[in-house]
Amino acid sequence: MTVDAIYNAKHPYQATISEIRELNGAGSQKDTRHVIIYLGEEGPQYVPGDSLGILPRNNPELVQRVIDWLGAKADESVDLPKGGGTLPLSEALQCLEISKVPKNLLQPLSAHTNDEVLRKLADPTEKELLTAYCDGRDLCDILAVCRPGALSAQELVDGLKPLLPRLYSIASSPRAHPGEVHLTVGVVTWESHGRLREGVASSYLGRRSCSGSKVEVFVHHSKNFGLPEDPATDIIMVGPGTGIAPFRAFLEERRIVGGSGRNWLFFGDQHSATDYLYHEEMASLQQEGILHRVDLAFSRDQGHKVYVQHRMLERGAELWRWIQGGAIFYVCGDALRMAKDVDAALHQVVQEHGGMSHEDAVVFVKQLKKDKRYLRDVYAV
Ligand SMILES: Cc1cc2nc3c(=O)[nH]c(=O)nc-3n(C[C@H](O)[C@H](O)[C@H](O)COP(=O)(O)OP(=O)(O)OC[C@H]3O[C@@H](n4cnc5c(N)ncnc54)[C@H](O)[C@@H]3O)c2cc1C
Repeated sequence: MTVDAIYNAKHPYQATISEIRELNGAGSQKDTRHVIIYLGEEGPQYVPGDSLGILPRNNPELVQRVIDWLGAKADESVDLPKGGGTLPLSEALQCLEISKVPKNLLQPLSAHTNDEVLRKLADPTEKELLTAYCDGRDLCDILAVCRPGALSAQELVDGLKPLLPRLYSIASSPRAHPGEVHLTVGVVTWESHGRLREGVASSYLGRRSCSGSKVEVFVHHSKNFGLPEDPATDIIMVGPGTGIAPFRAFLEERRIVGGSGRNWLFFGDQHSATDYLYHEEMASLQQEGILHRVDLAFSRDQGHKVYVQHRMLERGAELWRWIQGGAIFYVCGDALRMAKDVDAALHQVVQEHGGMSHEDAVVFVKQLKKDKRYLRDVYAV
């Protein structure tokens, strides 16, 4: 068994954060952090293209609100669900799902509220109302309209699910940074029902952790997203925003491994002045001749929005030549819009520059996927 096979979501490795730095410049509307985690020699092993699983912890302020509502002591012992052991209440609440509405608790809490909607939600037939009510609310929103202390600490814990791990594309090559793993974390925040909310894991990693903080991790090996074995193969990388992460790892790896394969990056974000992540590193890679082409799309630098798919279409002829020459086409980042728009642009490039009908372009792109020359690592952001 290799060392990394030991660690998984149930048996994570306890690593230490060694550095967190801001990647966006002053005035940016984005908050992206470069997080360096020290794994040491005993930690899980990875290759570029893999992701790191993180077991996050809830914001202690939210945990304290729940404890205050219970009128309990932070060090009161509670049993975790599904034989997960016994923990002090404050620790248990840090690793249970409190940032959503716990459906299991609606019934017991409905008897302790004057909120008409919450009372109705105890009725299992009110599915639409339930979905609408839960949208943008968390446990604290529900407790705020219920009689404080109506449930015991154990009754509340029994109704909560374990917090799920989150995955982050690894942004480093282990050859370039032995014993370390680097991540590119976009801190998620939004406002709903009059309160500023934050993503559990991204705020835990990017804002509440610091150098020396312990973090539980495991490596998620990607079978279908990695560098080609042959370093002579050209690669095209489309990775706007945090989607640049695995491509930083690819480029670091190729800098060390060498080889004649050319590397082309499409990157985009809001503003060039503040949001070109790893700008200096990419500039150095270009100067060294590792990064052969970079096409940038900063959506808010001009009156009309420009995204990576627009740059792909502008460079269509060249893109087609690279694909014809055997290049692998990679996409990483936002699954909801970007990946779909990039997919449509790829079809258009193949159709226009390959002189194909729409149907033939569809068949061609399908074949690219089958041949593992169109690889995606996309997720909801
Ligand atoms: C293979 C893979 C690789 C990934 N790589 C990266 C990476 O390199 N970098 C990176 O930053 N992320 C990456 N992610 C995403 C990451 O795993 C998390 O999903 C992300 O950080 C958000 O997690 P969170 O715990 O901070 O937010 P959560 O606590 O999970 O909250 C996110 C949820 O908040 C709600 N929400 C968010 N915004 C709003 C809004 N404006 N209005 C209302 N509700 C909202 C939505 O319900 C959303 O689902 C990757 C995901 C996968 C699957």
